[in-house]
Amino acid sequence: MTVLFAPNVADEAAALLTRLGVSPSAFTGGDRSVRSPITGEVIAKVHDVSPAAAAAAIDAAHAAFLAWRKVPAPRRGELVRLLGEELRAAKADLGMLVTLEAGKTLSEGLGEVQEMIDICDYAVGLSRQLFGLAIATERPEHRMMETWHPLGVVGVISAFNFPVAVWSWNAALALVCGDPVVWKPSEKTPLTALGVQAIFERAAARFGDAPAALSTVLIGGREVGEALVDHPRVPLVSATGSTAMGRAVGPKLAARFARSLLELGGNNAAIVTPSADLDLTLRAVAFAAMGTAGQRCTTLRRLFVHESVYDGFVGKLKSAYGSVRIGDPRDPDTLIGPLIDEAALNAMQRALDDARSAGGRIAGGESVKGPGQGHYVRPALVELASQAEVVRRETFAPILYVMPYADLDQAIALNNDVPQGLSSSIFTLNVREAERFLAGSDCGIANVNIGPSGAEIGGAFGGEKETGGGREAGSDSWKAYMRRATNTVNYGEALPLAQGVRFDI
Ligand code: NAD
Repeated sequence: MTVLFAPNVADEAAALLTRLGVSPSAFTGGDRSVRSPITGEVIAKVHDVSPAAAAAAIDAAHAAFLAWRKVPAPRRGELVRLLGEELRAAKADLGMLVTLEAGKTLSEGLGEVQEMIDICDYAVGLSRQLFGLAIATERPEHRMMETWHPLGVVGVISAFNFPVAVWSWNAALALVCGDPVVWKPSEKTPLTALGVQAIFERAAARFGDAPAALSTVLIGGREVGEALVDHPRVPLVSATGSTAMGRAVGPKLAARFARSLLELGGNNAAIVTPSADLDLTLRAVAFAAMGTAGQRCTTLRRLFVHESVYDGFVGKLKSAYGSVRIGDPRDPDTLIGPLIDEAALNAMQRALDDARSAGGRIAGGESVKGPGQGHYVRPALVELASQAEVVRRETFAPILYVMPYADLDQAIALNNDVPQGLSSSIFTLNVREAERFLAGSDCGIANVNIGPSGAEIGGAFGGEKETGGGREAGSDSWKAYMRRATNTVNYGEALPLAQGVRFDI
């Protein structure tokens, strides 16, 4: 285990925040402590927003909406282009701040900022392509079409593990669609949100005439999220986090007929078939299961290996688990950083106890000494004969349950036999197996010969069942952020009614 004798994390975070343009008064002197998972130390004290200030901020965002919706979409795209430029300039600092606050390796912290840049580029192009259809009408001298209009304030609630990218998936699209964004980041990662807000404000200043309150950050706990969920001037809330959070948020939004875009827990599987390229599969499984210390919604948690290749493949996988480099995520040699906090460690140990009781054979899972009081663990590989109850729930930690299978249809059924439906993969060189899997997996994401994690922004991202059904980022996800109107225009002198109905006065 490598320990960097770097400056104290609090000083490093303060220097980064200052360089990003955040005023020290925003991250000192508040009531809410922010801890770095690297050492467990308190690195900042932020200020929670009061309920009255949260409501006022949402009202201000609504006022911004009334002006922003009139700005032509390609001009709105110019603001997002500038945001992308500012993110490029700030990539190194923001990426390192993600590492300090969320504990991701620096390569992943930088990758997360790159994802923000990518979605900005995508949204700039999209700002000239927010088009609807012209539809055949049954009436002579009529035209029917659909047009897309700005929706209103978009509320974003985000999780700790993608502290900045999730905001950008929503914000870049919402802004070109004509919608201001009010963001409630995870209470575990408010500093990166403050950094992003400072970056956004630089882009808005360069843009020139952007209305105030186009982008707002509300720091606080779940009660601040609830303020967004309950406010009548927020027609869409995009909420990323646990299924428990979605269960609380979804019905409240439905009760006031607001839209929800839910991105909740996953329990992702991969199938390793007899024809798989096992070297490639080993690398893909190692990254998907151990990367980000098992703290991605798309982390590989269940592996079904055909019995004919089971012993050889699982033996090599265990060696990879035994030798993977764990430690300070700022060290370029580190592959596995810390868990976010002690609660995550305890949840992991509880799941391993349950797996042991279900007959699981466990390799790894022990605590590893890291810098300071950070919670570092060796990823755990758990061999089980069947999909026990513990396997069917998401434990947000690096545990991979490995099970043998005999028949592909049985493996696809096991892939689907969990409450969640986010991501899935098959490793095979057999086109029939690949296609049967792609048609048979019930997840929002199904891959061949790559792991279930590490999505690109061009595709629609999200999952089914208890994952919540939302879709973000690419493809036609933008439609969630706009209001569709069907327009019929009569350019003739007669007034024919549809379906031949007569009403002559
Ligand atoms: P969490 O559910 O504890 O918190 C997520 C956010 O929801 C936080 O900002 C929190 O303050 C807020 N929140 C919690 N309860 C709320 C309520 N009742 N009303 C309003 N807001 C509320 O999740 P976490 O521990 O930060 O993140 C880990 C979870 O997120 C995992 O389950 C993971 O799979 C999931 N996740 C899903 C995706 C996805 O795209 N599907 C992406 C990242 C993380």
